[in-house]
Amino acid sequence: MPLGMEFALAKTVAETIYDVAIIGSGPGGYSAAFRGAEYGLKVALIEKSDKLGGTCLHVGCIPTKALLFNAEIWDHVQHASEFGIGETGTPTLDWAAVLERKNGIIAKHVKGLEFLVRKHKVARIQGYGRLTGAAVDGVHTVEVVAADGQVGQVKAKNVIVATGSQAKMLPGLAADERILTNIEILAMGQVPKSLIVIGAGAVGMEFSSIFRSFGTEVTILEFLPRVVPVEDEEVSKEITRLFKKRGIDVNTGAKVETVEKTEAGVKVSYVDANGKAQVKEAEKVLVAVGRAGLTGDIGLEKTKIELERGLVKVNEAQETAEPGVFAIGDIVFGLPQLAHVGAMSGMVAVAKIAGRKFRPVRKDRIPSCTYTEPQIGSVGLTEAQAKEKGHEVKVGKFPFAGNAKASIVGNHDGFVKIVSDAKYGEILGVHIIGPQATELIAEAVAVLELEGTVEEMMYTIHAHPTLAEAMLDGYGAVEGLAINA
Ligand SMILES: Cc1cc2nc3c(=O)[nH]c(=O)nc-3n(C[C@H](O)[C@H](O)[C@H](O)COP(=O)(O)OP(=O)(O)OC[C@H]3O[C@@H](n4cnc5c(N)ncnc54)[C@H](O)[C@@H]3O)c2cc1C
Repeated sequence: MPLGMEFALAKTVAETIYDVAIIGSGPGGYSAAFRGAEYGLKVALIEKSDKLGGTCLHVGCIPTKALLFNAEIWDHVQHASEFGIGETGTPTLDWAAVLERKNGIIAKHVKGLEFLVRKHKVARIQGYGRLTGAAVDGVHTVEVVAADGQVGQVKAKNVIVATGSQAKMLPGLAADERILTNIEILAMGQVPKSLIVIGAGAVGMEFSSIFRSFGTEVTILEFLPRVVPVEDEEVSKEITRLFKKRGIDVNTGAKVETVEKTEAGVKVSYVDANGKAQVKEAEKVLVAVGRAGLTGDIGLEKTKIELERGLVKVNEAQETAEPGVFAIGDIVFGLPQLAHVGAMSGMVAVAKIAGRKFRPVRKDRIPSCTYTEPQIGSVGLTEAQAKEKGHEVKVGKFPFAGNAKASIVGNHDGFVKIVSDAKYGEILGVHIIGPQATELIAEAVAVLELEGTVEEMMYTIHAHPTLAEAMLDGYGAVEGLAINA
C-alpha cells in the first residue's frame, strides 16, 4: 500500500473502534495523531485532501517562508557589492524555478508526513468527515464521504476536530486570477508589476515583503490605525518606517469600499484616514483580512458544541461541550490561528485522552512571528497590555545598531524591547524587530515559561558575537545598564 495504513472506506465501517478519530491533517491534526500513537492510542486520521499537511504545508507557513527566503537571497544579491562581491553579470530572477523550489519543499514534507503516518501505524482515511451526534455506549461515529461519493463510518471513543480555516473574502468578491487569497497568490505565473494588499496582519505583511523584494509596486490598505496590530505599538511604528523605506506604500485607517476589475487589473476605492475618498489601481489585489474557521457542514449542529463568532469553545484540555469531542487549531475560539498553537493544542488533547499529564496552552506564552524583512518576533504582554493589567512596568530597549553581529550581517534596523514588572523584575513580554527576530524569540519564550527575571537574564551569558547579545543588552537596558548603547 503506497500510503501505509490506508483503508478502503467500506473496511473501516464498524470493524475497528479507534481510541481517537481526528478530522483534518494540518499541524493540529497530524501532531495529535503522532503524539497519540506515541502514547499507544489507536488513531484514525481523516483528511478530505489526497495530501496531508493542511493550510500550513500547502498554502501557508511553508510556501510563504520558502518565498521569503528567496526574497532574502535576492535582496542580498542586489547589495552584493556592499560585501565586496563584484558584478559577474546581471542577476536574473527565474520565477518558475522559485515556484519549483517551493513546490519541491512541500512535496518533500508531504512524503515526510506519509512516512510518519506509516511509522506510527496511524490509520489514514481519505474523505470528508462529519460528526453524527453524541456517543452511543461511549463510541462516536464519524461519517466519512470519499471523493467518489462512497459513504463510510469511523467509530472512535474520542473525536478531535481539526478542520482548520480558510481566507475570509470581502462581501461580494470571489477569488480568481486577479483577486487573490493566499492560495492564488502562491501560484501566480509571474511576479506582478503592482499589488494592493488589503489587510496588514502577518499574512498581508509577509506577501507585501516578498513581492516588494521582487520589484512589485506594493500598496497596503489597513483598516486599523496600525499595521501588525497584535504587536507592541513601537514595533508597528518601526515596521511602518522600514516598509516605507523599502518603497512600500503603507496606508492605515483605510476603509476599503469597493474592489472592481478593470481592463488591465483591479481598482480599489477606499476612504483614507482623513476621511478622503481615494482610488488605487494595480495589476492584482490580495485580500488578507483574516481567516474563518471551517466549522460549517461538519455536523456540529448535531452535538452540544458551542460556537463563539464561528469558532469552537473549548476548556483548557481542548474539550468541547460535547463529551468525548475535542477541538484544536484554527477552529478554536480565543487562541491565535498559528501552526504551533494548532500543534500544541493537539498534543494537549491527546494527552487528556490518554490520561497523561499536560499543560494547557497559555495565550500569554505563545510566540508570534512575522517573517517579513525586517522580521518580528514577540511573546507575552505588550507594554500597553502590561499596564492595562495593572503592572508597574519597567521597559528596556536596545537597538540592533549597537550589536556587532548585526553589523557583520549588514542588518542594523530594529530593536529588542523587554517589558518587565518593576516590583519583582519578572519579564512579562519581549518584542523584537530586526535580523533573525523569529529565531531569537525562542529564548524569550523559554524565559517567560520559566518565569525568568531581568536580573537572572542580565547574568545569563550570551555568546559573542551573536545577535542574541542584543537580548542581553535589552535585559540590561531595563536597569539602564546596556553595555553597547
Ligand atoms: C499565508 C499563510 C501563512 C501562514 N504562515 C504561518 C506561519 O509562518 N506560522 C504559523 O504558525 N502559522 C502560519 N499560518 C497559519 C497556519 O497555517 C494555521 O494556523 C495552521 O495551518 C492551522 O492548523 P490546523 O491544523 O488547525 O488547520 P489546517 O492547517 O487548515 O488543516 C486543516 C485540514 O483539515 C482538512 N479538513 C477540513 N475539513 C475537513 C473535513 N470535514 N473532513 C476531512 N478533512 C477536513 C483540510 O483539508 C486540512 O488539510 C499561515 C497561514 C497562512 C494562510
